[in-house]
Amino acid sequence: MTNISWTEESWNPTTGCSRISEGCRNCYAEALSLRHKWSPAEWTAQNAGRNIVLHPDRLDIPRRRKKSTKYFVNSMSDLFHELVPDSFIAEVFTVMADLRHRHTFQILTKRAERMAAWPGPWTLNIWAGVSVENRRSLYRLDYLRQSQAEHLWVSFEPLLEDLGLIDLDYINWVVAGGESGPHRRPFDHAWARLIRDQCKEQRIPFYFKQGSDFKPQARPYLTEADGSETEWKQCPTSFQREKWREKPYTRSKPIFVFNPETEFSREDFVARNQPYILGDILYLTQHADEMLLLCSQDPYFAQSRREQIEHLIEIIPEYHLLQYMDEMRRLLAEVIKYGDFPDRIPPLPESKVPQ
Ligand code: SF4
Repeated sequence: MTNISWTEESWNPTTGCSRISEGCRNCYAEALSLRHKWSPAEWTAQNAGRNIVLHPDRLDIPRRRKKSTKYFVNSMSDLFHELVPDSFIAEVFTVMADLRHRHTFQILTKRAERMAAWPGPWTLNIWAGVSVENRRSLYRLDYLRQSQAEHLWVSFEPLLEDLGLIDLDYINWVVAGGESGPHRRPFDHAWARLIRDQCKEQRIPFYFKQGSDFKPQARPYLTEADGSETEWKQCPTSFQREKWREKPYTRSKPIFVFNPETEFSREDFVARNQPYILGDILYLTQHADEMLLLCSQDPYFAQSRREQIEHLIEIIPEYHLLQYMDEMRRLLAEVIKYGDFPDRIPPLPESKVPQ
């Protein structure tokens, strides 16, 4: 069980940590651990050797759970803390990769450098995330982008100041919120609104967890400039899926094959990545039910299924994949249940029929 609203369960194969930046000042995990005497001493760097405990006996917990679940990995620790040995992190990753068809794992770290260098395996069900609390810690986003994980997210919590314009390239999900507890620091909803507005503009799902209050999540609404309150609980569509498709082949970043202009010129893309598009479409035609999942992994895509499919249909001719148009048309008619939609699929232009 967990009280954290953006996940379903916490899984703590390690416990204990040491403070590393301003966001740690009122760490709830430390307060809880000291209160219950789970940790022998304050979470300083000097005490880390005593406080950090590996729990090999907990590695099997997600294996025993049959129901598809979102797990927050290490709500009471930091998986990439320097005192957690590589061999143990590797065991955690083996469990997560083995369960790629059943569970989603949400990792959140302040040790972004170590996560960036971690070789994985980063299966699609493992989301790599960093915490960012102020301008000084924005550098973690750059390390996050270097990670080999395909799904990247950031938690701006506890948000301690206005972050201005942020580079959110390749970020798939954003969470933000103020600090809770007796020592909570000031929080201005305008800081979170600015992040929300950038997410909206870039079509990144945005989740506002809470304002500042004694109790966690006592204020789950975002206050707008006019004083009204709004709810922002967006999650990536793929989190709502029960199963993950197996990655059929390896591709380098960017993973968003359907929106190549974010990284390459069109010519570059055709030259360098056409096999991947082909691979995707072939795969999709064999796995119709999972087609929308693949589409939904592109945060630049519009959220609605109809817009996703319209976009897909649009780009197939552009990438000289016309031989797949008929098959895609058939597939879409099956998959998309919107009454009028199949009629709107453009006919194959005579002049472009492949020989
Ligand atoms: S990194 Fe996280 S768990 Fe560790 S002290 Fe800081 S806030 Fe607490």
